[in-house]
Amino acid sequence: MARDYYEVLGVSRGATDAEIKKAYRQLAMQYHPDRNPGDKSSEERFKEANEAYAVLSDPDRRAHFDRFGTAGPGAGPGFGDAGFGSLFEDIFENFFAGAPRGRRSRAVRGDDLQYELKITLEEAAAGMDTKIQIPRLEACEACGGDGIEPGNRLETCEMCHGRGEVRRSHGFLTVAQPCPKCQGAGQLNRNPCKRCRGEGRQRAERMLTLKIPAGVDDGMQLRLSGEGSGGVRGGPRGDLYVLLRIREHDLFTRDGADLHCDVPVSFSQVALGAEVEVPVLGGTAKLKIPPGSQPHEVLRLRGKGMPHLRQRGHGDACYRLVLEVPAKLSAKQREALDAFEAASRSERGPLMAAFVERMKKLLG
Ligand SMILES: [Zn+2]
Ligand SMILES: [Zn+2]
Repeated sequence: MARDYYEVLGVSRGATDAEIKKAYRQLAMQYHPDRNPGDKSSEERFKEANEAYAVLSDPDRRAHFDRFGTAGPGAGPGFGDAGFGSLFEDIFENFFAGAPRGRRSRAVRGDDLQYELKITLEEAAAGMDTKIQIPRLEACEACGGDGIEPGNRLETCEMCHGRGEVRRSHGFLTVAQPCPKCQGAGQLNRNPCKRCRGEGRQRAERMLTLKIPAGVDDGMQLRLSGEGSGGVRGGPRGDLYVLLRIREHDLFTRDGADLHCDVPVSFSQVALGAEVEVPVLGGTAKLKIPPGSQPHEVLRLRGKGMPHLRQRGHGDACYRLVLEVPAKLSAKQREALDAFEAASRSERGPLMAAFVERMKKLLG
């Protein structure tokens, strides 16, 4: 510790505090490890400068050094390592950033909003224009969004003198911090708007017209840019997301652009063939059931499903045949079925024939 700290910093013995600080900053900037990565001699110079400044910037330790030529109490090995780094980075962050910290914009972007809109399947198929009422925050009408009571203006913060940051001494180091009084803004709103209490926003209900394209599906979101909440103190608006929910339909379920519907049919209808009335979107249509159709068979009406979203064409309407067996028979029905059964005994269908074959095999 017999090094001459004045020599290290390149200042005279009579140098003022300001001269010492200036000299130190120049050296620190020049030899900072960030600027000289991997350069051992720069690192050494950097450490020396730190050590010299630590002593010469402290009046007691400087006096001790002047008298005895040593660093005096408080200095020693390890100094400049642990515990020192964070303060150090703090001060240098400012040097290297080139601009003072703390002067942040107080404007904040408004929140994104989500609105759930329930529509019917028919509405989803046709598309529609609808009006929705959105509760959201809007720029305050009284102050125009700046949060200042009309007739007043922002005043320079007296704590930081408008700089937005304050300097705190930690021993020999001075650290810049955002001003606690103005939160780094450099200005104070001493006359906050009475209506919005200085926030610049107020609750409002807003009516919006929404265009829903034909073919939308459940769970889709429409984004309305800039229709979310207003920003704080003049910040940009957020976005509005409209989440589409499609109500359950009495007859149809949906699979993409296809619609599915169960159609109950009688044995004679599927056996003989028939034409039945089935639902389609916005009305009904005739569905031909070919003779010999099987239970659970699906018949399609091409192009009678949902429109493809932002494309030409439609999906299909699909009808599943659900066989309904009469729970009770009239005498006439029984007679007819008895006759049918008697006539059918000699010829089985392919399912029945295969089943009988397998049973025979099993029993040997
Ligand atoms: Zn206001
Ligand atoms: Zn301030």
